[in-house]
Amino acid sequence: MSRISKDDRRLQLQREAQGDHLYANRVRVYPKDVHGVVRRTKWAILVLCLTIYYLLPWLRWSRGPGRPTQAVLLDITNERFYFFNLELWPQDIWLLAGLLILGAVALFLVTSLFGRLWCGYTCPQTVWTDLFMWIERKIEGDRNERMQRDAAALNADTIWKKFLKHSIWLAIAFWTGGAWIMYYVDAPTVTVEFWTGRASNEVYFFTWLFTFTTYVLAGWAREQVCTYMCPWPRFQSAMLDDQSFTVTYQGWRGEPRSRGKRVAGAPQAGDCVDCGACVMACPTGIDIRDGIQLECINCGLCIDACNHVMERTHQDKWLITWDTLARQAAKKTGRHEPIKILRPRTIIYVSVLLVAMIGMTVALATRSTLELSVQRDRAPVFVPLADGSIRNGYTVKIANKTQMNGAFDLSIGGLPGSTMVIAEGDPKPVTVLRVLSASDEVDTFRVLVTARPTALTDGSQPVDFVLRDSATGKQTVYHSTFMGPPGYAGGVR
Ligand code: SF4
Ligand code: SF4
Repeated sequence: MSRISKDDRRLQLQREAQGDHLYANRVRVYPKDVHGVVRRTKWAILVLCLTIYYLLPWLRWSRGPGRPTQAVLLDITNERFYFFNLELWPQDIWLLAGLLILGAVALFLVTSLFGRLWCGYTCPQTVWTDLFMWIERKIEGDRNERMQRDAAALNADTIWKKFLKHSIWLAIAFWTGGAWIMYYVDAPTVTVEFWTGRASNEVYFFTWLFTFTTYVLAGWAREQVCTYMCPWPRFQSAMLDDQSFTVTYQGWRGEPRSRGKRVAGAPQAGDCVDCGACVMACPTGIDIRDGIQLECINCGLCIDACNHVMERTHQDKWLITWDTLARQAAKKTGRHEPIKILRPRTIIYVSVLLVAMIGMTVALATRSTLELSVQRDRAPVFVPLADGSIRNGYTVKIANKTQMNGAFDLSIGGLPGSTMVIAEGDPKPVTVLRVLSASDEVDTFRVLVTARPTALTDGSQPVDFVLRDSATGKQTVYHSTFMGPPGYAGGVR
């Protein structure tokens, strides 16, 4: 209830400030630098995420001669996805979909336990914005200096510093856009092609597109993305309950807030000295003392800011802390509320995660390395031959997902006496076709099957195409049909 009323109040204030206008100008946020355990943790995660992102495309992985050597490669041109030893074909796209679903459920679980941890620490928007702000601080100074500079008239020093800042931002954005492309095309190859003008138009287009979006989103839009563009804050409240850990101002301890020195034993003075350090540190420009808010990304930088103030005023640290609403309500009345990790929603999320993970692992381990698909010709559906037999045409696809060339035997079950020939191949009919298939290839060819079926009462009969690996004996079967004139019975109508 209190969150809604606070939001409503803010909206009302905004409307009052903008009068009859529907559009309110952005109030620029100048976050102040903070130091502390949260800030150090954020730096560590930022460095880890960026190191993985920028360097992963350069990691090599041996897959044998003539095969891609990039450990992680989304080879859209050749319809393959390489992830270290794992190679996915278009037919395995369900695995990627499954991974995305796993990621979503894991995010639901983390949110229900720890609030917007993803937003505050690992979301790309947060990570790059943090990096861009660090560069801004290094060049233009901390909050006060930047505010004064922006409020003052332009001078040579400001022009030079802004030029330098935007140049570095653009360079990082370009590096980011380029790195993204390297997940789709071999990194060393595309780098050489890019700088020698031999890369494809798509490579240039997407590199500049991602350069532009990184520069705009991390350099200019910043907290506006989290507040207005991203849908996640809107539906994350469905995953939160009063047992979820979030960044919380301990109002029962801080209120009534008042400025000035604390005197031991003085009545009615809360721990909050109303210094505003938490607000100045906030990258989204909000006051955590107003309660949980849509704009709060749970980064915890206000915790560091307040801890520093608490140290200086010789009070206990963690006036702003990570805690649950239930525990805070209990503390307010002097009770102790235990942490509840196991709750119906977390149990459901963990169960779904476990089932999905086990299912995907089993499916991945038992995934076939040989696939057969057969499409019957639609026109003509069948061809009656002069000797009274019937001929059907089929398009056969064999996907050899192994790393070795193979010889495979194709036969038909359920159609005694049938023979096959490869259309435009050797015209000699055989009962078993020997097919050679190169490793990591899909072979497509047309097969003409001739038979005198005896069970075509309704004009069709089921048949099985059987593909057998001559080296391993492994078989794969594709169910199809053989068509003919209704009532046909072995050539005698
Ligand atoms: S209120 Fe605190 S945790 Fe929330 S966004 Fe601002 S600094 Fe981060
Ligand atoms: S930093 Fe701490 S003491 Fe200062 S205003 Fe914020 S909550 Fe109060």
